[in-house]
Amino acid sequence: MKLYNSASHQKEEFVPHTPGKVSMYTCGPTVYHFAHIGNLRSYIMEDVLEKFLRYDGYDVKRVMNITDVGHLASDADTGEDKMVKGAKREHKSVLEIAQFYTDAFFADCRKLNIKYPDVVQPATGMIDDYIKVISKLLDTGYAYFAGGNVYFDTSKLKQYYVFNDHDEEDLAVGVREGVEEDLNKRNKNDFVLWFTKSKFEDQALKWDSPWGVGYPGWHIECSCISMKYNGEYLDIHCGGIDNAFPHHTNEIAQSEAYLGHPWCKYWMHVHHLNTNHGKMSKSSGEFLTVSLLEEKGYDPLVYRFFCLQSHYRKSLIFSWENLDNAKTAYDKLVSRVAALSDDPAPVDEAAAAKYKAAFIEAVGNDLNTSLGVTALYDVLKADVNDATKRALIGSFDQVLGLDLLEKAAALREKASAPAEGAEEIEALITQRLEAKKAKDWAKADAIRDQLKAMGVEIKDSKEGTTWTRV
Ligand SMILES: [Zn+2]
Repeated sequence: MKLYNSASHQKEEFVPHTPGKVSMYTCGPTVYHFAHIGNLRSYIMEDVLEKFLRYDGYDVKRVMNITDVGHLASDADTGEDKMVKGAKREHKSVLEIAQFYTDAFFADCRKLNIKYPDVVQPATGMIDDYIKVISKLLDTGYAYFAGGNVYFDTSKLKQYYVFNDHDEEDLAVGVREGVEEDLNKRNKNDFVLWFTKSKFEDQALKWDSPWGVGYPGWHIECSCISMKYNGEYLDIHCGGIDNAFPHHTNEIAQSEAYLGHPWCKYWMHVHHLNTNHGKMSKSSGEFLTVSLLEEKGYDPLVYRFFCLQSHYRKSLIFSWENLDNAKTAYDKLVSRVAALSDDPAPVDEAAAAKYKAAFIEAVGNDLNTSLGVTALYDVLKADVNDATKRALIGSFDQVLGLDLLEKAAALREKASAPAEGAEEIEALITQRLEAKKAKDWAKADAIRDQLKAMGVEIKDSKEGTTWTRV
């Protein structure tokens, strides 16, 4: 496949370190709050990438961290730990908060058909590894101890800004939010590997270390977790574009300084989900979660479908109107699949191979998911039997994850099943008819009112009584 590599700033042919195998790392959530649907856009697109690689025959191992310590409110190593902030807000312990929001995150993922990673590692479970890596960085002169904290010295690197074609706005994050300048830093972009002296003494989780009791910085967590499970050579590192700087930049700095050789080959960054007011965030505007979509009557897969219709390297504008359009298109697609006959005709293998090749070509070109969706419509229009169409749709959906065959089967079942509550309604209509025959008008009217309260309207005619739901 071809994949745009943020580190080389170009689309490249994807060649993994070990033929046939792909090691993949995804920055997981900081579990202090629910994920908003902008965060989840990244996970959806990364899920499609993982599924596509498997579909294309690779053996994929995907690792994800759970950040439950060390992620501060500001990227400039200042502000409160997000986990502590979440715990205070909800009057719970940091570990309770971490468990609750980890579960909530994976519940959202299940609803969006995002596969559970092969390895999920909470950051608090790897303290010894961080200490080992930080010790070596100190020994080799890449890190220094100042004011009680251990810092990475970015001036020791030949090249620090790897993703230098990012928006200036992204690059400026550390500066913009770094109002409280840390005077211990030798260089503006140096970052904390291990905190001992912190401005917030109420940090809940602390560990013993050669530098005093403290806790790790956010960036070192991802490097160590990836190296532990995926080894010294990582094929693909994914994440949202806002993690490119400083988080991923710092991951590269410390990993390569530690390893002494290049670490990760391909960097895949998913761009923002915007609203009409700008980038979606937890702090501004409506807090859009999967639960909110459900409360408003949307199937979470409609949101997945919405994301697939655009390219991951472009910002996507979210509005309820745009989501409604996606819902209409998704529902139509499901009913078209439901309309296919399920006669067990043999699948036209030659035609199927041709359509599969076109699908792989489309999605394999830097994850062009909207062309992948178009490939579904091409199959529906194709001059092949319905068995072949169903087989192809099931096949493509292994990558797209839209549950099309399942939803279509449910739709057919619903259409053929008797309307819910029909039996009870018919029984009441019969009772009303008997009451009328017995000239018990009060009872007949009461039954009509009862039906009305159930949302059923009845109509009397010479032919008898008919009913409809209103
Ligand atoms: Zn990370």
